[in-house]
Amino acid sequence: MTQSAKEVLHKYFGYDSFRPLQQEAIAQVIAKKDTLLLMPTGGGKSLCYQVPALMLEGLCVVISPLLALMHDQVEALKAGGIAAEYLGSHLSSAEEGQIKQAAQAGQLKILYISPEKAMQTDWFYFFTTLNISLFAIDEAHCVSTWGHHFRPEYAQLHRLRNQFIDIPFLALTATADRTTREDILQQLQLKEPQTLISSFDRPNLSLKVLPAQKRIEVIDKFLEDRKDEAGIIYCRSRNETEQITQKLQRLGYQADYYHAGLDYAQRKLKQKYFTQDKTPIICATVAFGMGIDKPNVRWVIHYNMPKNIESFYQEIGRAGRDGLAAETLLFYSYADVIFYEKLLQEEIQANPQQGEVLKSKLEQLQQYAEASFCRRQILLNYFNESSDKPCGNCDVCENPPNYFDGKILAQKALSAVYRIQRECQSYVNLDMLVDVLRGSKRQDLRDKNFHKIKTYGSGADISRNEWRDYIAQMRQLGIFEIAYQHSHALIPTETGRKVLSGEKQVDLVAVRDVVLRQKNERKKAQRSKREILADKIFDKLKQVRTQIATKQNISPQSIFSDATLQEMAEKIPLRAVDMRRVTGVSDFKLKDFGKPFAVAMITFLQEEGEEFKNLKGKTLLLTWAHFTKSKSLEEVAIQRKLTETTIASHLATLYQMDYPLEVEKLIPKEHRHKLMAYFKSYGLPEDLRTVMEYFNEEIPFPYIRLAQAYFQKQDRTLEE
Ligand code: ADP
Ligand code: ZN
Repeated sequence: MTQSAKEVLHKYFGYDSFRPLQQEAIAQVIAKKDTLLLMPTGGGKSLCYQVPALMLEGLCVVISPLLALMHDQVEALKAGGIAAEYLGSHLSSAEEGQIKQAAQAGQLKILYISPEKAMQTDWFYFFTTLNISLFAIDEAHCVSTWGHHFRPEYAQLHRLRNQFIDIPFLALTATADRTTREDILQQLQLKEPQTLISSFDRPNLSLKVLPAQKRIEVIDKFLEDRKDEAGIIYCRSRNETEQITQKLQRLGYQADYYHAGLDYAQRKLKQKYFTQDKTPIICATVAFGMGIDKPNVRWVIHYNMPKNIESFYQEIGRAGRDGLAAETLLFYSYADVIFYEKLLQEEIQANPQQGEVLKSKLEQLQQYAEASFCRRQILLNYFNESSDKPCGNCDVCENPPNYFDGKILAQKALSAVYRIQRECQSYVNLDMLVDVLRGSKRQDLRDKNFHKIKTYGSGADISRNEWRDYIAQMRQLGIFEIAYQHSHALIPTETGRKVLSGEKQVDLVAVRDVVLRQKNERKKAQRSKREILADKIFDKLKQVRTQIATKQNISPQSIFSDATLQEMAEKIPLRAVDMRRVTGVSDFKLKDFGKPFAVAMITFLQEEGEEFKNLKGKTLLLTWAHFTKSKSLEEVAIQRKLTETTIASHLATLYQMDYPLEVEKLIPKEHRHKLMAYFKSYGLPEDLRTVMEYFNEEIPFPYIRLAQAYFQKQDRTLEE
């Protein structure tokens, strides 16, 4: 082992510090111990095998279930100068042979492979001939039938564990539940494994729920300030993904749809456009997301409610993987709950136990949606992480609910239900109850004589949607329960009876006015000049990134993440040394990509002119920007309205700061030789005018300045 984990992190990934548990996981691998690592999506699992792979001798083999995921990872690694490959159906047998050769020759550090392939006799055998540093099992929950993505090929992986007894195994997953976790350890037959569980909190995701009303309008408003930001709208059906896409396109958005009904090539293309920032909005079924490695998804909207918190959390987890702020919005309607409950009825009949589990999972998501206290606390409590402080980044925390005395409303609803039961010998479900309370003229209502009860029309002053919401709250408070066997009729409970008789208090939360809430949001604080500048630069940098990505046909994110570009935009690191200090800029990436980004910033500053005069190093860099275009001292001096001596001095400084600049070529040959000979014999003088005088002022001063810089650097290089 030659480099420390921290050195590798800095050198290859350009990061300064580890995230929680990364170091622990890496230490385990280095100590050749087996580990199961649980981290939420975006927590930084991949680094936990990539860093040791670079620290240890030999090859790190990563078992991964998805080709798309392997592709993205390998692309990003290669862009960072790391020798990585993946084996998939895209390779010809000759190419596969080359990879084998590279592995054998020890030229490869990381190899991604599917479980099927890894278990094929030839590969299995081939592995025994290699020096393998570690096996990483990505998406390890696929090994468990309890997880929600069981893959039979994974079931064989214990054979690897048993064959390569001396090599450490690192299993990684984002699935949290205990049963699956224990099953993974067993199925993989890990040796005395340590389980590392990181917090599932994702504080950068804001949480918000809105009633499922006028959803397209709400989305339109939501997207107003997010025109170029990437996001996913999760829909329930294939059909819906297409319809919503159409609606958004009509509103002028660049949206596309994705579902499992599309053929492979189409799905692949849509995915690619999304990861490359070409289609920022994807309306998708849950088929979308597994294996999409896009760290800068800025928002996730659920057009419908998912069926449990696990799915919901996994889906919103695709936002903000780069750690920057991202938003999530769930549209909630009671109709969705009923939809799932109907589905569950069949399940419960077929398999009562499993059905009940699923039902209670649904109810917990419903509680999340209807919450009148911090939503994040609900989520974390669900994942057994106690959290007793409100998060401050969910809609409930931001707009604490207004409670009001809901006794009268509850009594009206209860009374209507009782009277219908007594006077009409009938049950009533939510929709009908609202119509009775609002005095609807529905024919079936009249046929059943519901319009004759005393409470008919007593709630006409409250809108239909509000009533639905209040009754949902009443249900939440245990005032009503639902009789599934009677078309979801509402049945008053014992609590309901107490409310009706006035023995029990009812606190309801005022139905939040959607429009009002939207207006309250994103209260734009006064932004400083510098922030406005940063935004503009950020846009420029993204353009540069897209250009490079398109040219090299790789995803923009594998060049620099949004977080990195954001930091650049804030710090404006015009010099190479400053650029290197930006999180995510490694040595390799600085060399490969640094310049176009610096040039873009310089050009931008040039165009913006006076406003940003006081930026560190600006004058130097303007010279640099001009110089990259014209390469002549004289011309640059004219353009910059400065003397050639000043320009030479700028260039000399830039050269010393390692800007790619061949100063020696700017000095005419005959002068260069004389000057070098002079410096060699006399060393560097205190004052360059001595040199000037020595040559009887025959050599112009700018050349002396450049020669000095050149000599100094050569000298230094020799010493090293
Ligand atoms: P996961 O596999 O757990 O979903 P990734 O490994 O894809 O997460 O990491 C998510 C993002 O976080 C990536 O963009 C990655 O480069 C970044 N990241 C990981 N570790 C660090 C770190 N220590 N410092 C800064 N960024 C990190
Ligand atoms: Zn909160």
